[in-house]
Amino acid sequence: MREERKGMLIVVSGPSGTGKGTICEKLLAEDPSLTFSVSATTRYRRETEIDGVHYHFISEEKYDELLKEDAFLEHATVHGHRYGTLKSQVEELMEKGLNVVLDIDPQGAREVMRQRPDCVSIFILPPSYAALRVRLHTRNTDDPKEIERRLGNAKGEIEQMHLYQYAVVNDDLELAYQQISAIIAAEKQRTTRYFPVVE
Ligand code: 5GP
Repeated sequence: MREERKGMLIVVSGPSGTGKGTICEKLLAEDPSLTFSVSATTRYRRETEIDGVHYHFISEEKYDELLKEDAFLEHATVHGHRYGTLKSQVEELMEKGLNVVLDIDPQGAREVMRQRPDCVSIFILPPSYAALRVRLHTRNTDDPKEIERRLGNAKGEIEQMHLYQYAVVNDDLELAYQQISAIIAAEKQRTTRYFPVVE
């Protein structure tokens, strides 16, 4: 039997602190059909990050240039920094038949869902606001005022959960990972993406 698959676009989003980054890392490590779209950002590079691997770290000027060239599939200002998904990246990877994972904030996710209604959209939820607060504190990347701001944003983002096709609660990383793997496995078999030829 011959078969052919079209690459799909998988949007993983959710409030800050729900663990979507960790979930995406695990998905990418376990499934070779998945690849990550490296976003461009004006944020400073953290010590553990590699330019071109975690992000393309670019200047404000370069970001403005890309905006002018209409190079972004979506872009958003998240917690004071600018981030954008490069159209060229996504298109190139999907043309190779790869499934492209976007780890993006809810503003960007809504834009991708508008532009690419064929995408798979997954919203990651915290088990509770109390758990989200603890997570934001233990991550130790933000001051208390910023944490309260992110919790406030989370409420509005969760209210818009119905815009996504799937919702997964990240109470237990392994379970959340299993659930998302199952979603991806089913989406791969859709007849709009999978073309087996019976000979
Ligand atoms: P961080 O700076 O901690 O890596 O990411 C901060 C937030 O920006 C996360 O919620 C992450 O999902 C989001 N983000 C990363 N890249 C993009 C992007 O290209 N577009 C949008 N809209 N959000 C992004």
